Amino acid sequence: MSPTRKCQGERLRSVILGRTVAVLGIYLFGLCGFAKAQDQTVQLLQLLSNAPGPPGFEEPVRKIMVERMTPLAEHLAYDGLGSVIATQGSTGPRVMIDAHMDELGAMVRRITPDGYLTMQMLGGWLDEALVDQRRIILGSKGPVRATSGLRDAHLVPSEDRGKLINTRDAIFLDVGAKNAEEAAQMGIRRGDPVIPDAPFEILNGSQNYLGKAWDDRVGCAIILEVMRRLAHAVHPNQLFYTATVQEEIGLRGAHTAAEVVKPDVGIALEAGVTRDVPGVKPDEAQEVLGGGPGILLFNISQLPNRKFVALARQTAREKSIPLQDELILIYGDDGAEIQKSDGGAPTITLVIPTRYTHGHNGVINRTDYDRTVELLVALIQKLDATEVKHLRDFSPEP
Ligand SMILES: [Zn+2]
Repeated sequence: MSPTRKCQGERLRSVILGRTVAVLGIYLFGLCGFAKAQDQTVQLLQLLSNAPGPPGFEEPVRKIMVERMTPLAEHLAYDGLGSVIATQGSTGPRVMIDAHMDELGAMVRRITPDGYLTMQMLGGWLDEALVDQRRIILGSKGPVRATSGLRDAHLVPSEDRGKLINTRDAIFLDVGAKNAEEAAQMGIRRGDPVIPDAPFEILNGSQNYLGKAWDDRVGCAIILEVMRRLAHAVHPNQLFYTATVQEEIGLRGAHTAAEVVKPDVGIALEAGVTRDVPGVKPDEAQEVLGGGPGILLFNISQLPNRKFVALARQTAREKSIPLQDELILIYGDDGAEIQKSDGGAPTITLVIPTRYTHGHNGVINRTDYDRTVELLVALIQKLDATEVKHLRDFSPEP
């Protein structure tokens, strides 16, 4: 049912059922009006967040990216692993702008005789994120809905109630099948991809957007918006926008895409990690939601180029865009592969603050998104031959 029809139905019922329900009707009408006001950015973010695409199964996301990139690109190509490479401009330094298409997910490992499924997790899940969640298996006959079970509370003795008992080895999916044959008839087989069932929502009319896969669909959306803005603008460089595959299992698509692009410099776009939720220590994370884009200063996979960081900070200052620092230990990103490619390329990673990364439900902020687009466009405009030569110059100062 479309949101509009649902709202009309609720309004009609409110007339019939009287005053109490009328209040509900007005409330729902408000939500409908809000839904209508959703702009194209919201629609794009919703489309990308909802699209299924665990590592190795990025086809639905790739389809969206290719459809939207094609009218904006002068040339479109693929690496041999499935990453998309869209180009704007044919002269000047080679600038690689990267986001990955894949999300955390799983694949069906085994169908048990009594019709349950076990999973091979794909990407860095916490065990505590796995239990009691709705998931979708992308089977040969279409989506199959599932829940990952939970130990029944009535069966857990008091001494075990505070413990995490269902680790990933004990997790199973319940699809409603009585046995393995019924599961097979639903179109499920070993190796089928599994994704979180976590549809996009605007959080109660706020600027915060709830959804799965912000890591790194928010980066994919930014690539499309920056391409749109630069499609008819002069820029002093060749831009290679790469939408990569299999980042979550080892930055694999960035490696192969960078081999094709051979960038002079690189900019990776990623989901950042925020400190503005209960329980985060000051040394663990630095960003806040709504505080502007972040720039990565350290993670375990890479150190950014310092001159390039300085250029990004200067650009942000000139544009009055707040730029937050990010130092995260347990984190790897495509920038690590870009900076090691073709003899080395100065690279930075810009991040969009994201709450609850690698979970079923993440939260991003619209203002952060808009400011990241603005910063990236301004930064790209500065990357002319002189600036890139300066970034790539490591000779000692006289
Ligand atoms: Zn990521």
